[in-house]
Amino acid sequence: MKLIDAHCHINLDEFKDDFNEVVERINKKLEFAVNIGFDMKTSLESVELAKKYDFIYSAIGIHPNEAKEYSDEVEKKLIKLAENPKVLAIGEIGLDYYREGAPRDLQKDVFRKQIELAIKLDKPILIHCRDAYGDTFDILNEYKEARGIMHSYSGSYEFAKKLMDRFYFSISGPVTFKNAKNVKEMVRELPIERIMVETDSPYLTPTPYRGKRNEPIFVEYVAREVADLKNMKYEEVKDITNKNTKKAFEIEV
Ligand SMILES: [Zn+2]
Repeated sequence: MKLIDAHCHINLDEFKDDFNEVVERINKKLEFAVNIGFDMKTSLESVELAKKYDFIYSAIGIHPNEAKEYSDEVEKKLIKLAENPKVLAIGEIGLDYYREGAPRDLQKDVFRKQIELAIKLDKPILIHCRDAYGDTFDILNEYKEARGIMHSYSGSYEFAKKLMDRFYFSISGPVTFKNAKNVKEMVRELPIERIMVETDSPYLTPTPYRGKRNEPIFVEYVAREVADLKNMKYEEVKDITNKNTKKAFEIEV
């Protein structure tokens, strides 16, 4: 069985020199990868990739750092793009109080609007949350129908527990870092039934490639680390996280 990379950005410039090789490696080694938009341009590119390759799916949305871009016009374009059945989710959306690419009030407003959009379209959401767990929880609490994925999750088990009935937690490269004690501890505690694996490529490269560009097939190192932490067989983690990813994105493949 082949793994799934639940979150990547292979449309970015980091891949422009060897794009075809990277895509070929996904085709050979993974069941599929989900390419994620974070503004209008990258959302369009993600959908184009999904149209071109049957082993690539996409998600579309406006990232909190790009919140200034959101408008009624952009929302209409997202609705149009979401008609493609390979658009699995609205995201990445959320709150980023670490980089603060936009004022917090605007981030919250754009987050709420896109949650409402996802509910209207009956799609899961894909959440980016950085240093903003309190507000993220409060906003998600306003929308009980919202469900989906916390992407590149590195928060606490206690936070995860509060949302575990309707969210999955996607683990990325940092879990492989020797000093990532908190993330490792959280993964040990989190039920395997709520865990997914992703790369967030080109970012967050796992050990042993830390410091180099990340790419979707490196999701294997994340899954192997999860298997180690859970005292499970790699094959079993692969099977369960694949199932979780398909459930989270609400697809039958
Ligand atoms: Zn991302």
